[in-house]
Amino acid sequence: MPPTPATPRALTLAAALAAAAWFATSTGCSSPPRTPSRPEPAHLSRFEFSRPQMGVPFRIVAYAASEAEAQAAAEAAHARVAELNAALSDYDPDSELSRVCRNTPPGQPAPVGPDLWFMLSRSADCSKRSHGAFDVTLGPVVNLWRRSRRRGELPPPHLLAEARARVGWQHLELNPRRRTVTFHRPDMRLDFGGIAKGYAADEALAVLRRHGIHRALVAAAGDVTVGDPPPGQPAWRVEIGTLDTTNAPPARIAWLRNASVSTSGDLYQRLEINGVRYSHIVDPHTGIGLTNHALVTVIAPDGTTADSLATTLSVLGPDQGLAFLRRSSRHAAALILQARGDHIESLETPNLQHWLTPSP
Ligand code: ADP
Ligand code: MG
Repeated sequence: MPPTPATPRALTLAAALAAAAWFATSTGCSSPPRTPSRPEPAHLSRFEFSRPQMGVPFRIVAYAASEAEAQAAAEAAHARVAELNAALSDYDPDSELSRVCRNTPPGQPAPVGPDLWFMLSRSADCSKRSHGAFDVTLGPVVNLWRRSRRRGELPPPHLLAEARARVGWQHLELNPRRRTVTFHRPDMRLDFGGIAKGYAADEALAVLRRHGIHRALVAAAGDVTVGDPPPGQPAWRVEIGTLDTTNAPPARIAWLRNASVSTSGDLYQRLEINGVRYSHIVDPHTGIGLTNHALVTVIAPDGTTADSLATTLSVLGPDQGLAFLRRSSRHAAALILQARGDHIESLETPNLQHWLTPSP
């Protein structure tokens, strides 16, 4: 979560607002139950707010009875995201996360606040289920790759070895009763870059709902969470990005309500050396940025799930990734675009179709 606005990744998953047809509400697939829409107030107008947060343009689209109402709700939602950043950022040396990592000696339990606890427990769960493909203890290695991107050179092997010695989700102990975290290796550094924007989008939407705004969309670049659809429309129309190669398939459209979609890939943050593209997503088993040039989109009931799964599936690759989803996340759907030489392979879960068809 860098502190300044980054590249306009919103393009990857541009949320367009004109829905064209009724959304499929079939019962036969494994999509999550949907919250029924509320009665339509007579005059709702569309308001949009954007602010750089967590290193990306954080966008809120809200339907409200008045600008003042929308403004107050969006302000509160942005404040909640700022609060999350103050707890979870690995860029901010004063964040709760940075302080806990810096000040907690190995073997000593450190109490953490509710947001940090939630991220830790969801991350640990994801690590366990993915056999370590998702790993928030990768901080030291991720930092090294950030340095490499700045310098345009691969991480020196000795630094990579030193960083990898400080990594490993199994060396993190969580105590749910006391809500403490214990580091069992020295100088461990956590990084919620693969999960926190999805959570922030969820939390921002929750704040809007508490302010009475239910028809809203929150987009943290490629992590989008939507509530009830725009007035008179069946769903939010959200464009799923595609690979940046000439032979890539056209972007597809997802129709969402009370759901989230996240896209992970190397489109905007990567290092290119001798014709090899290294992603900002790192394979924990090697410490090397992914080189498979893929784009993974996950649709899930909430943003925390979608964001963490998109990163996990990126690491696992198409075959293992889809098998992993079948095993562990019945309610999630995925689309994986994978470059294989000049050919682009497109794989998806059968339930993806449910979200792509705005049927009457
Ligand atoms: P984006 O940040 O572009 O939305 P992701 O959600 O996939 O993309 O998150 C990538 C970020 O997650 C990286 O910048 C890094 O901070 C972190 N990360 C990298 N590799 C992993 C991994 N294997 N497991 C968990 N987090 C990772
Ligand atoms: Mg992610």
